[in-house]
Amino acid sequence: MTYASINPNDGKTLKHFDELTDAQLEAALAAADACAETWKRTSFKRRAEILGKAADIMRARVDDFAKLATLEMGKRIDEARGEVKFSADILAYYAKHAEAFLSPTKLDPKIGEAHMESSPFGVLFCVEPWNFPYYQLARVAGPQLMAGNVLVVKHAGCVPQCAIAFEKLLIDAGAPKGAYTNLLISHDQSDRVVDDPRIKGVALTGSVAAGRSIAARAGKNLKKTSMELGGSDAFIVLDDADLEKTIPWAVWGRMYNAGQTCCAAKRFIVLDSIADKFLEKFKAALSELKPGDPMDEKTTHGPLSTESALLQLLKQVDDAVANGATLLMGGKRIDRPGSFMQTTILTDIKPGNPAFRDEFFGPVVSFFRVKDEAAAVALANDSDFGLGGSVFTEDIARGKRVASSVDTGMMFINNIDWSDAELPFGGIKDSGYGRELGNMGIQEFVNKKLVRTAHLNAPAWVPGKAQDVLVEAS
Ligand code: NAP
Repeated sequence: MTYASINPNDGKTLKHFDELTDAQLEAALAAADACAETWKRTSFKRRAEILGKAADIMRARVDDFAKLATLEMGKRIDEARGEVKFSADILAYYAKHAEAFLSPTKLDPKIGEAHMESSPFGVLFCVEPWNFPYYQLARVAGPQLMAGNVLVVKHAGCVPQCAIAFEKLLIDAGAPKGAYTNLLISHDQSDRVVDDPRIKGVALTGSVAAGRSIAARAGKNLKKTSMELGGSDAFIVLDDADLEKTIPWAVWGRMYNAGQTCCAAKRFIVLDSIADKFLEKFKAALSELKPGDPMDEKTTHGPLSTESALLQLLKQVDDAVANGATLLMGGKRIDRPGSFMQTTILTDIKPGNPAFRDEFFGPVVSFFRVKDEAAAVALANDSDFGLGGSVFTEDIARGKRVASSVDTGMMFINNIDWSDAELPFGGIKDSGYGRELGNMGIQEFVNKKLVRTAHLNAPAWVPGKAQDVLVEAS
């Protein structure tokens, strides 16, 4: 069964969902294709009314949406509420700004007049992960629906109820049939969707393995893709950092969403002179977190999303230790029902240890001490990933220098990696390509068309003299 809603707090199955039959999938693609024809001609004003209404509904029903995420993937309830509100903000942001972002831009050619205009591609296929079950959907639905594209979306197998709730949200807000369709489909069916000529672009957020598979498939079909993949972001602490202020960010950066965030702080790189003090304080702060039911607001440490996610993470920690890392704290599952992992700190991770390069998607800190700023930057860059990163220092100019030297798509000074509707989000290297959010996010799947007006009176054709002739004619 691909789509199952299982509460990771106690392992109980809440609901199963059947995959679409091939005939149902075909009907969904046909409906999306038909809708694309009318939706691209629907005014920005009408699209904005629908997206704005969806944002209003989300804001009015924050708890309903949040509880579903907490039940299905174990997000702590206050974080789930925050995610729902942020998702509404993203929809509202694009409802307000899309028309300006996509308005024609005037160019300045030597001859005649020219402008660029934007038009939607058509039907996009989006594949999305469970870790932010609404935000990930809003990140594509907000910009792409406002751009005039329509979406068919494959969400992750463990969050079918959130996926269905988001589709219903848009229908309730007035989106026409086919504008946004949730597809409960297998990976094989997903491959066929990528191949389908009605699909004009593919956006994926997920693991590197999924990205490689789907981007390769789309590439064979010469379809444009955007890939938002994994990360192993550095959290650099320089020797002038104020530790009292830095430690709470370190805890938040690693433990938000039970550590299951692409741009979480994963590699803590601390300058030698303050490394012992940082480690002592960080360990003490992590020890204070209390595991419990994520539905309880007092809980500060929730479960991982699924039992298989927990087993994978435990194995990664065991492998790290078998390859020479020191386990300073945690490393085991928590002795209670559900998929809970102890907060864990690994040190002495050397090149050659799989832990040196792999992503830990959960509450596992990889700790490194380095002699100086240059070594911190070199270690931060010694990664296959390039999503984000942060640097903590009292000296902003120094922070900016480090930020400019780290090879990632995003850097944050005295803050953890964070996203806002108006700021572009995305990475380089194995973290993928393309950007979501902000003005850049809405430009990913639109045709940028050049329209040029020149002189009507064609001069006599002179072979080999085309450029001169055009200039003379203008
Ligand atoms: P995943 O296994 O790649 O799953 C993500 C989505 O891809 C799911 O919908 C999954 O469906 C689908 N999928 C996976 N393989 C597929 C295939 N061969 N064909 C079709 N669909 C496929 O990712 P995950 O491990 O659950 O999620 C965590 C990963 O996502 C981490 O690496 C994290 O860093 C990354 N992530 C990146 C960002 C970003 O913006 N850069 C944001 C969030 C998460 P099924 O569930 O049915 O397999």
